[in-house]
Amino acid sequence: MRLITFQADQGPRLGAVLDDRVVDLARASNGDLPDSMLGFVGAGPSAWDRARDLVARAGGDVTPLASVRILAPIPRPRKNIVCLGLNYRDHAEEAARAAGKPLKLPEHPIYFTKPATSVIGPDEAIVYDPSLTTEVDWEVELTLVIGKAGRDIAPDRVMEHMFGYTAGNDVSARDLQFRHGGQWFKGKSLDTFAPIGPCIVTADELTAPGNLDVRCRVNGVDKQSSNTRELIFDIPSMVSILSAGVTLEPGDLIMTGTPHGVGFARTPPEFLRNGDVVEVEIEGIGTLRNPVVTRSAR
Ligand code: MG
Repeated sequence: MRLITFQADQGPRLGAVLDDRVVDLARASNGDLPDSMLGFVGAGPSAWDRARDLVARAGGDVTPLASVRILAPIPRPRKNIVCLGLNYRDHAEEAARAAGKPLKLPEHPIYFTKPATSVIGPDEAIVYDPSLTTEVDWEVELTLVIGKAGRDIAPDRVMEHMFGYTAGNDVSARDLQFRHGGQWFKGKSLDTFAPIGPCIVTADELTAPGNLDVRCRVNGVDKQSSNTRELIFDIPSMVSILSAGVTLEPGDLIMTGTPHGVGFARTPPEFLRNGDVVEVEIEGIGTLRNPVVTRSAR
């Protein structure tokens, strides 16, 4: 299934996309299924099967996709988004080169987080205040959605815990990131700096997450192009190691890292500016597009 959260009169609603139509799953099930993505993910496999059934039999009770406003699939995660740093070799190389340091690939996954307040959805503006940062950068990332709780998950059991996948942009204020060194939280955590969407594709439908093309364009110009098979720590490894002693729960989001082609490592460096449009695209999921505006220009 391709699942979205869309804006309805009564607030955000969970929908399943069927070609160019949206099925409101709570309405189609007469209220049996939750009306929110987090509720639905947490409801477990029997609810997911029920939804699949409803979508297959969807009749007249549908809304044209073009008529709804699509929100972030999980507009307000319950926890911080967990992110992987330096998880593509060519990105680790460009980052070392830009910093004038020798390349040292991580021997263990580097985890950091972005707060739930940084999440925005498709077409929402990435907003920055030029008096705070002038080095706003892009990072396309395949984003995992956990479906089944677990701790100490063995690598060969990780896929049993996956609900689905979405596209993410780990927007980064490089000046803040490097000024507040030793951690990356500050520079990665500004409001609007975690666009996700446009949909979650469930794990039964996106069966090869370790072999997906990932791309980023700014104003229509290609900036990043790679494939998730280039991940240093693959999905089973990064989730298994994270889960050692740490409980993962339904609805948890994990951004898997970005490939080469980010702005700060370019010659000369490039950063996002007021009026730019940044698009991240992941094979099998779709394109997440966000305009960039400065706070003073709003
Ligand atoms: Mg990143």
